[in-house]
Amino acid sequence: MNSATAIADSPAAWKDTAAEFSMGLRGRLLSAGDDGYDAARRVWNGMIDRKPRHILCCSGAADVVQAINFARDHGLDLSVRGGGHNVSGNAVTDGGLMIDLSPMRGIRVEPAKKVARVEGGCTWRDFDKEAQAFGLATTGGVIPSTGVAGLTLGGGLGWLMRKHGLSCDNLLSADVVTADGRLIQARADEHADLFWALRGGGGNFGVVTSFEFRLHPVGHVLGGMVAYPLDEARAVLTFLRDFWLSTPDNLTIIPAFVTTPDSAKILAVCVCFSGPLADGEKLLRPLRNFDTPVADSIAAMPYVQLQAMLEPGFPPGLRNYWKSSFLTGLGDEAIEILVAGYHKVPSSFSAIAIEQLGGSLSRVAEEATAFSHRRAACNLLILGMWPDRDGDAAQVGWVRDLWQAMQPHVSGGVYVNYLGQSGDEGADRVRAAYGGNFERLLEVKRKYDSDNVFRLNQNIDPANTESWTCPKQ
Ligand code: FAD
Repeated sequence: MNSATAIADSPAAWKDTAAEFSMGLRGRLLSAGDDGYDAARRVWNGMIDRKPRHILCCSGAADVVQAINFARDHGLDLSVRGGGHNVSGNAVTDGGLMIDLSPMRGIRVEPAKKVARVEGGCTWRDFDKEAQAFGLATTGGVIPSTGVAGLTLGGGLGWLMRKHGLSCDNLLSADVVTADGRLIQARADEHADLFWALRGGGGNFGVVTSFEFRLHPVGHVLGGMVAYPLDEARAVLTFLRDFWLSTPDNLTIIPAFVTTPDSAKILAVCVCFSGPLADGEKLLRPLRNFDTPVADSIAAMPYVQLQAMLEPGFPPGLRNYWKSSFLTGLGDEAIEILVAGYHKVPSSFSAIAIEQLGGSLSRVAEEATAFSHRRAACNLLILGMWPDRDGDAAQVGWVRDLWQAMQPHVSGGVYVNYLGQSGDEGADRVRAAYGGNFERLLEVKRKYDSDNVFRLNQNIDPANTESWTCPKQ
């Protein structure tokens, strides 16, 4: 009889075991019925409704070590929550032990060295607030409630990526608790293989209790959006795909099909220019003068204000189903499909975003970090978001149909952080997320987590022996 069976067979004995475990902790151990249990098991995607046997709200690395040892010794599934934003809901296990890092929010900025050490439960709001107090920032997600941890471990796309690289390109070191319960530091000259894998390989290798980042001076940016009616989206995107070929690294553009609060479908071209503001004004003039926008909010603003701009469009608790793929470019036919697709959108919350890539992030070698999609021109993200369970079939159907229609125009790659639940995506999509770096990631996984203790993620199974041909990226 294995220990997992013993747990199920003997609830009374388990109660004692759990009580003993909780005595050695600094953080709170929650079980069903405890105050705070339901709030702690909730994540950003309202479709996720899982019930861990226990949730450990960690106070520090020692709690994480103890939790990993406990889960391993008792055959419990383990999940790790940073910011709780991942749409797959992998931060929450059904029946196992959830490591909740959200109480671990310490940040130490060293302005003179332009570095910051950030604990594993921080959000980008936490990080930006502390770093901007010193006029500093690093590339982070465009919605401030997203976790630093999950986002960085998958790569990290954001407004500053074309200028300063991905979030993971700015990672200097990470404190990691490994599957055998050791706390080690991964950096370029120590556990270099692990450090490589953490920069794009997701949560496969251990629990990162803190990250050290390189910071950059970031003052006011020129940011906001210029919006067009959906009927003009074709012309605007056709203009944009040429316009952004010649833009410098300090400008990032994200056009998005969205619905306004008064139910108008529009193409909102969101921008961030980080550099001398007069240069930005000049650079953005052709875009702002193109045709007749229905709105133009582009202005000089603090970086944190731009970071907050899109947040109202992403309320927590909505039901979410996303599909994503990198694009090789934006041809006429792809534009037609996207415009026609948004005409049919069944929810006013749903959106389609096209994230401009290129710039600094594309000049890093594909094998330099585990993130391997550096040559893609842009990333397509189809976001199904709606409030009620009744809408599930129509909303999921819309996302799938549109993504299917776009298949002739996508590269073979997908961003690991936008993947949904593995049962829905399938093993090939997970592999496509790791692209040409998959085999090397598999080696690192076998070295640091041969028993696949960290399997509730976009998983690299150490027992995998199937050969696979990486599709064109
Ligand atoms: P969680 O759900 O807490 O964690 C996701 C997974 O990461 C976990 O299952 C675990 O495997 C792993 N993990 C988390 N913390 C740790 C840790 N400390 N140690 C080890 N493993 C850990 N991505 C971008 O790149 N750019 C964006 O601008 C962006 N915007 C987004 C906006 C919204 C509204 C949402 C919902 C997502 C966005 N994303 C973006 C995707 C985002 O990068 C992923 O959802 C990411 O996983 C979120 O990290 P988290 O810590 O909040 O997630």
